[in-house]
Amino acid sequence: MKELHSFSWYAKHVKKHLPKDAFKPVPARLFGGLAYLLITVTSFLLIGLLNFHPLINLLFSVVIGCSFAGMGFLGHEILHGTVVRKPWLRDTLGAIAFFPLTTGPKLWRKWHNMEHHVHTQHEENDPDAWPTLEKISKMKAFRWVYRLPFSVRAFFSFASLTVQFTAHSMKMFTMYIKEFKPKTQPKVWLQIALPWATWISLIFVMGLEKWIFAFLIPLLIANFIVMAYISTNHRLNPLVPVNDPLANSLTVTVPKWVDVIHFNFSYHTEHHLFPGMSPKYYPLVKKHIKEMWPERYHEMPMGKALKALWNTPRVYFENYELVDPNHGTMYGSLGYGLDPDNVKSKTVSTTPKNTKAQE
Ligand SMILES: [Zn+2]
Ligand SMILES: [Zn+2]
Repeated sequence: MKELHSFSWYAKHVKKHLPKDAFKPVPARLFGGLAYLLITVTSFLLIGLLNFHPLINLLFSVVIGCSFAGMGFLGHEILHGTVVRKPWLRDTLGAIAFFPLTTGPKLWRKWHNMEHHVHTQHEENDPDAWPTLEKISKMKAFRWVYRLPFSVRAFFSFASLTVQFTAHSMKMFTMYIKEFKPKTQPKVWLQIALPWATWISLIFVMGLEKWIFAFLIPLLIANFIVMAYISTNHRLNPLVPVNDPLANSLTVTVPKWVDVIHFNFSYHTEHHLFPGMSPKYYPLVKKHIKEMWPERYHEMPMGKALKALWNTPRVYFENYELVDPNHGTMYGSLGYGLDPDNVKSKTVSTTPKNTKAQE
């Protein structure tokens, strides 16, 4: 097995090569958020006040959905403190940016900054990691899912990307609410209740049909866009005992203009090295990582990553393998035998301690 290093180990080596400015907040990122906000409000008004043909309204849905996703990417950045430093301002702006995705800043910072970043791809402690075979064999309710044919499961898991962010966010709320101090809990409640109350009351203002175009369809589109990244960030990588971003994260590549409108969210390995750095500087970080550890670094076009995701099951076996519990077919993970250009399975016994992956 490869020697693993923590993200701070990599960060220490890369930091020396970066300019001081790279560690300063970049408030100018907010102009992008303002643009998305204006586009969203204008589209809402147009749908609400005028009576367009449903196909025209559907075009607005796409525009709003893309804006919701863009605001979510900026919200992620804001709540890492890379846009403004003052906590109250950071949380207020983060709340606005995450308003469409109905996630509150306090919950997000707990779930994402404190749990996902600190325990990335840890079997038990990363709330975003996919389960192991051992874990799902205890979840009786889910077992029938794995009896469905592989392609049917792949189809449904891709279709579920349209709701996964919102659903997972609600799960995180129920999981973590008790961990907040009693004094803070009402704020966490308010931060999730306020967006939902606003969006739901809009039904009575706009009418159901217009609301579907203005909010519901855009929410599904935004979920799909953010999940297209989130699902490829780590799900092809192994679970690891040490939080090594070069082993447990994947950077996807997208056309330059997509990086512009998505605030460089594609640079996920870089983000795990320096979560407190503005993504504006991630191309520079990438250059240094590729110079220092080219054999450890994983990157691939987004389309290829999604295809590999489609072709592999989402259950971990012995941390480094992905297994289809239905047939016992096994696939490697990135860095451990998975070739995204040619995804191949092997049939191996899933009895623990019986495979090479145990090493
Ligand atoms: Zn991540
Ligand atoms: Zn992050």
